[in-house]
Amino acid sequence: MNMQFIGKLPIPQEIKAQYPLSEDAVDIKLSRDKEIRKIFTGEDDRMVLVIGPCSADREDAVLAYIEKLRTVQDQVADKLLIIPRIYTNKPRTTGDGYKGMLHYPDPNEKPNLIKGVIAIRKMHMKALTEYGMTSADEMLYPENHRYLNDLLAYVAVGARSVEDQQHRLTASGLAIPVGMKNPTSGDLSVMMNAIHAAQHSHTFCYRNWEVKSAGNPYTHAILRGYVDQNGKSYPNYHYEDLVRLWDMYKGSNLVNPGVIVDTNHSNSGKQYLEQIRITKEVLHSCRYNPDIRKMVKGFMIESYLVDGAQKVDGDVFGQSITDPCLGWEKTERLIFDIADVL
Ligand code: PEP
Ligand code: MN
Repeated sequence: MNMQFIGKLPIPQEIKAQYPLSEDAVDIKLSRDKEIRKIFTGEDDRMVLVIGPCSADREDAVLAYIEKLRTVQDQVADKLLIIPRIYTNKPRTTGDGYKGMLHYPDPNEKPNLIKGVIAIRKMHMKALTEYGMTSADEMLYPENHRYLNDLLAYVAVGARSVEDQQHRLTASGLAIPVGMKNPTSGDLSVMMNAIHAAQHSHTFCYRNWEVKSAGNPYTHAILRGYVDQNGKSYPNYHYEDLVRLWDMYKGSNLVNPGVIVDTNHSNSGKQYLEQIRITKEVLHSCRYNPDIRKMVKGFMIESYLVDGAQKVDGDVFGQSITDPCLGWEKTERLIFDIADVL
């Protein structure tokens, strides 16, 4: 091998002992998990919003954002369940660039994963203990899930990971909803195969153990748009796309057919302001067709304090350093508009 072993990471049990949850926090996690599950089984017809910055780059700005989200959540609780998007590890198309707080607890310093693991646990924990909100993250590195599993309400398997066996098998052992994104190529059968794999039980290797998963009936689809062989973006949130997905579910033996529509990425072509129109179009499709309404469980929206994006070393408080996001005022308006039509 040609790599330097820099330092040994604490194991999840050690980190959890060092940063344990209070009984109150455990209760909030259990009761939110139960509520969220009911949305994915259809017992509760509210929608879920997985909403927040593309990357949770700094704790102060992320918590300032979540504080605002909390206030809005209380006003729309009869229509929407809001899950803050706290994405701490970022897949990169070429491997270059900012890889999230796990790698860069300070985005302007060298990577430090030992500090990063602690920084991401603390930030997810504050969302729960200070604002009563369990959060969402991408499961980019399945072996790391246990650093956060007592805090997370939701995980997504990203477009670049969804064909990977370890991601699928790990998802099959989680007790929270897992969203499987369509791959960047847009092949929906890859996403459906991932959902199939995760909804079933498997025996496999996980963190040096032989384990047996229970199968995760809350695994569902996320439509994020796709790119063609020339790198051009195409959406897959239109009515016809949703009907196609519903037909694929009907022809399968999958349980709890569900989809979260990711309004940014290749669906908006990263024209982040389009997220408003895209959300409203999907809500219109839901009103038009009761099957689609049943299948659409909510939205994934990239939003932060300030509109747009800046460079990694930019100093605008609460502006994304990865994909461009909807700023707070437009976000608040959009959440109220969604709640109004549900
Ligand atoms: C993201 O959610 O920021 C992301 C990287 O998504 P995707 O895997 O769809 O590209
Ligand atoms: Mn993004």
